[in-house]
Amino acid sequence: MRGFTYQPSPVRVVFGEGAAGALPDELGRLRLHRPVIISTPGQAATVRELTAAHTHRIAGYLPQAVAHVPAAVVEGARTAVRDLRADGLVAIGGGSAIGLAKAIARADGLPIVAVPTTYAGSEMTPIWGLTEDGVKKTGRDPRVLPRTAIYDPDLTRALPPGVAGPSGLNALAHAVEALYAPDRSPPVDLLAEEGIRALGEALPALVTAPDADLRARALYGAWLCGTCLGSTAMSLHHKLCHVLGGAFDLPHAGLHAVLLPYVMAYNAGHAPDADATVARALRADSGAAGLHRLAVAVGAPPSLRALGMRAADLEHAAGLATRDAYANPRPVTRAGVRDLLQAAFDGASPR
Ligand code: NAD
Repeated sequence: MRGFTYQPSPVRVVFGEGAAGALPDELGRLRLHRPVIISTPGQAATVRELTAAHTHRIAGYLPQAVAHVPAAVVEGARTAVRDLRADGLVAIGGGSAIGLAKAIARADGLPIVAVPTTYAGSEMTPIWGLTEDGVKKTGRDPRVLPRTAIYDPDLTRALPPGVAGPSGLNALAHAVEALYAPDRSPPVDLLAEEGIRALGEALPALVTAPDADLRARALYGAWLCGTCLGSTAMSLHHKLCHVLGGAFDLPHAGLHAVLLPYVMAYNAGHAPDADATVARALRADSGAAGLHRLAVAVGAPPSLRALGMRAADLEHAAGLATRDAYANPRPVTRAGVRDLLQAAFDGASPR
């Protein structure tokens, strides 16, 4: 058995139907008396409803989170947080709401309680993102790791199938890349396999006939996969999603959903154990086949073309994705990535 280093996540996790009701107690545990509540504009009404009984303990609401954490939005939010004399940040929503809370925490050191309502997984990671002058930078900083994550499957009830499916594949991508990460470890392998299995079972049924058990199982899988993302370094797949999202303004979760089977196929021969684990968890002949079948079953966009990418940009994208060196089981070559992107652009069967 090869050696490994493993750091368990310090995030306190409260999970279950109705768990959002524990928010006041969880704030009390952290001695937070004047938190601000951060959300996207689209979820402002839901968030008000959720916290209606506790408004006397809330410093204010900042429903201004948007995708990719623009620096101007962060500066505006930091000023508001200071003016409100807030002592903590409660992010209720997906990666955009949690991302804004993280950017504020990174600058001002305030603690975060995260209440995720998608499967993106940001609540379990010390990874921050910030977009300045059209460039999205990311990094790791322990100050942005939430103190507590409250997972309430009831909050995903209104998640439209078109958001739920790609968001679930976004979560799965964390587990898949954790399985061949240079810093992987046996505990993370277990979390990854269980996370892939849970999401693989729940997602197809969830997008057609959602019920409470399926929502809980999907959120459980998302938690495990988010933990994988927080515990290991990501490789080619996350690099491609980051580059294509930033350079061509393509949707984050949709990119994960389209690219994941192709990246699995690209890496499979150089990461046979990871491929076998994904195949086992999804009950498929290969990791790529299982991921492709799942993407089809959840109605994810079928190709980069369908996401709005232009054929003329594929060459440039391959160049951007191979500019810097990073760990990946199979050597990352410009020609190899160009072929991968072409297959994903066409929606060809991944192999
Ligand atoms: P998002 O947060 O932008 O949410 C997508 C849309 O769904 C928004 O309009 C939102 O208002 C809506 N929504 C969210 N929850 C809903 C619900 N329960 N019901 C109905 N509508 C709901 O998207 P996302 O996919 O959650 O997050 C993507 C962002 O997160 C990207 O910017 C990505 O880079 C980042 N991310 C960061 C990490 C990290 O570790 N830092 C991890 C994963 C993703």
